[in-house]
Amino acid sequence: MSEQSKILETDILISGGGVAGLTAAAAFGSAGFTTICVDPTPPVTEEGASGADMRSTAFLHPSRGVLEASGLWMRLAPHAAPLQIMRIIDAGGEEHEARLTRDFDAADLSDEPFGWNFPNWLLRREMVAHLAEIPQVDFRPGVATTGLVTRESGAEVTLSDGTHVRARLVMAADGRYSFVREAAGIGIKTVRYGQKALAFSVTHPIPHGNVSTEIHRSGGPFTLVPLPDRDGSPSSAIVWMERAAEAERLAALPVEEFEAAMMERSTGLLGPLKLVTRRAVWPMMTQIADRFSAQRVALIAEAAHVIPPIGAQGLNMSLADLTFLLKLAEEDPAHLGEAKMLDAYHRRRWPEVKAREIGIDLLNRASMVEARPLRDLRAGVLGALYSLKPVRKTLMRAGLGVR
Ligand SMILES: Cc1cc2nc3c(=O)[nH]c(=O)nc-3n(C[C@H](O)[C@H](O)[C@H](O)COP(=O)(O)OP(=O)(O)OC[C@H]3O[C@@H](n4cnc5c(N)ncnc54)[C@H](O)[C@@H]3O)c2cc1C
Repeated sequence: MSEQSKILETDILISGGGVAGLTAAAAFGSAGFTTICVDPTPPVTEEGASGADMRSTAFLHPSRGVLEASGLWMRLAPHAAPLQIMRIIDAGGEEHEARLTRDFDAADLSDEPFGWNFPNWLLRREMVAHLAEIPQVDFRPGVATTGLVTRESGAEVTLSDGTHVRARLVMAADGRYSFVREAAGIGIKTVRYGQKALAFSVTHPIPHGNVSTEIHRSGGPFTLVPLPDRDGSPSSAIVWMERAAEAERLAALPVEEFEAAMMERSTGLLGPLKLVTRRAVWPMMTQIADRFSAQRVALIAEAAHVIPPIGAQGLNMSLADLTFLLKLAEEDPAHLGEAKMLDAYHRRRWPEVKAREIGIDLLNRASMVEARPLRDLRAGVLGALYSLKPVRKTLMRAGLGVR
């Protein structure tokens, strides 16, 4: 990277340093591409600090390759909580009780777990530390992308501190309201569900046994995902989806009442749940950009697609974006960011993401249903699908994104 009268030259400018942008910076930097990554919000790397990301991310098995290649896996592995079993419970009967429980066991597919779960604030801490060790990466927290002009020969990006950057490829990882996507003139289609998710962590007396559990009743799934023990107690991350008004009511409840509501909604399966973090509230939507590329621009992660957090798909789809983009870049580094490469990216990823969005949208709508006959139908379909072993294996592979 050379600085000439405040114009920086780089192979890649990544707009956005969320988990997706930081992973992309590590992956492309480790592959030898000079990479600048900017984000207006300095990463919050402590759980207790205000603005800390209360979500957790389950990296599914196929995502591990890109984390290994970028040197991140070695750092993350000691903090991982493995996910061996995905349990689905239907609690849609009269009482808040599990009336149908089905286990999907990773052992049916291989010796490895389905994936590994991490708190997002910890991912940021480890990723930022790792970037500091990659000479090709220049991470600039506190700086936003504010301007974009593209030509066939390259892109010129203006940053909020007045710096101009010339890049061969601009990667939009700046989230669901992406500045770069808009500046590139790419439209989006958004579906809202009138639904919100609460994200927080708990401890509980009964160990989770590396089982991730999705409980369906109405309003959306209640999902417990294993975390490593916390101060000697078993711990889980929870995503609790409900109609928006109900989610807001729950988020405002005094802790004791909230814990009682959690106990009921969890059917008591891990014993009394103790809230150990704040409750973050996320509006639920499905969103897809009309195209995943434009001249000298590639959209990845939530800049390209947003889905409700069901089956740990969101960030894993993002890592699939960047795995494919990296493959194209490494196959032909001399033509990085040119139309042929970016068209290939769009043509491959857009239909794959669209198909996955349709599946998650259906699952979410099925989980939201209120009427008893529909809830009974949902339990019946789950039971029937599960009882056929080939179907069960196909569902597990599809969930992992393995062909
Ligand atoms: C409750 C919940 C639970 C989830 N659980 C899972 C899970 O278990 N597994 C999974 O795979 N996925 C999960 N997801 C999805 C996953 O968290 C997201 O896909 C992922 O965090 C999105 O990452 P991102 O980097 O695209 O977006 P963000 O995290 O939103 O990052 C975008 C970044 O861009 C920056 N930015 C904004 N404007 C600019 C600008 N002008 N210039 C530069 N930077 C800018 C922002 O400051 C931000 O840091 C979950 C989502 C939710 C809501």
